[in-house]
Amino acid sequence: MSYRKDNLKKVKQAFSEKRSAALAASRSRLERLHREYPDLAAIDAALAETGMRLVEEITRGPEGIAERVAAVRSENERLQADRAEMLAFYGFPPDYTDVVYECPLCGDTGYRGTALCSCMKKALAKAGLESAGLSALAESQSFGSFDLRFYSGENRRTMERNLDFCRDYAKTFHDGSESLLFIGNTGLGKTHLSTSIAVSVIERGFDVVYHSAPSVFAALEAEKFGRPSALSSAELFDADLLILDDLGAENPGALNVNFLYHIVNTRLVSQRPTLINTNLSPAELQKRYTDRVASRLLGEYRVLRFAGSDVRMQKIGF
Ligand SMILES: [Zn+2]
Repeated sequence: MSYRKDNLKKVKQAFSEKRSAALAASRSRLERLHREYPDLAAIDAALAETGMRLVEEITRGPEGIAERVAAVRSENERLQADRAEMLAFYGFPPDYTDVVYECPLCGDTGYRGTALCSCMKKALAKAGLESAGLSALAESQSFGSFDLRFYSGENRRTMERNLDFCRDYAKTFHDGSESLLFIGNTGLGKTHLSTSIAVSVIERGFDVVYHSAPSVFAALEAEKFGRPSALSSAELFDADLLILDDLGAENPGALNVNFLYHIVNTRLVSQRPTLINTNLSPAELQKRYTDRVASRLLGEYRVLRFAGSDVRMQKIGF
């Protein structure tokens, strides 16, 4: 599992700013109170003094230490009670000067002990969706919104199995998970299930790179010829999960066949899972990308066949 380094840095920075802001806000409430209510400032000074006296009593040695410490403690408690009463008298809640963190569980540090706090995990998942370009799709294209009513008969059973498989795949995704090839005509939910897997795997803390095939090949071509590129081959090779949407929509040509071979082969060798979806049939894959690529896709990826009639057309009444 590897949160993207740049996301981790960005989120940690945001947490540190959030925490500083919470501390500063509490300090400024306290300073305001001290300015406006000198008697409160005096109580706070006395409270601070009991803290120092406690240390003094302890360092004075063991003789009568229990009584001496208890005396300081009880004075401290009396002062605390006076302070609460005074705050109430001036119309403030007792916790008015406490630091208000967005997440009380971790005090906006993002960590509980050495483990990531749930709030930090959520922020990292959100950043992951943003960097994968999936923020907008994440809501509409989830496992929960995949509607099996658009499929019937044997097709429906096939799609039920696909949905179950994908859900389980996302839930148990790990380094070395198998690679997937979604095959089927347009409008059968391949992108929907690819996005659902991406969102769910990102939420579990993995780095997912999700792009359409045309944009990946365009970026690789730019990189090869030294032009500015939005995406580097390193990103494609290193992602925990690479999703290549709509293979076959790019311009045909030997260069792209080589790029595809390079991506598929490198990731298979390093045991990094890849998900590719395509409208092309196995025969078309073979014809377009040569045996060398097709045999890897059809032989080493798990192939899921998507069946039915175009859901998008059904939705608009055809
Ligand atoms: Zn937290």
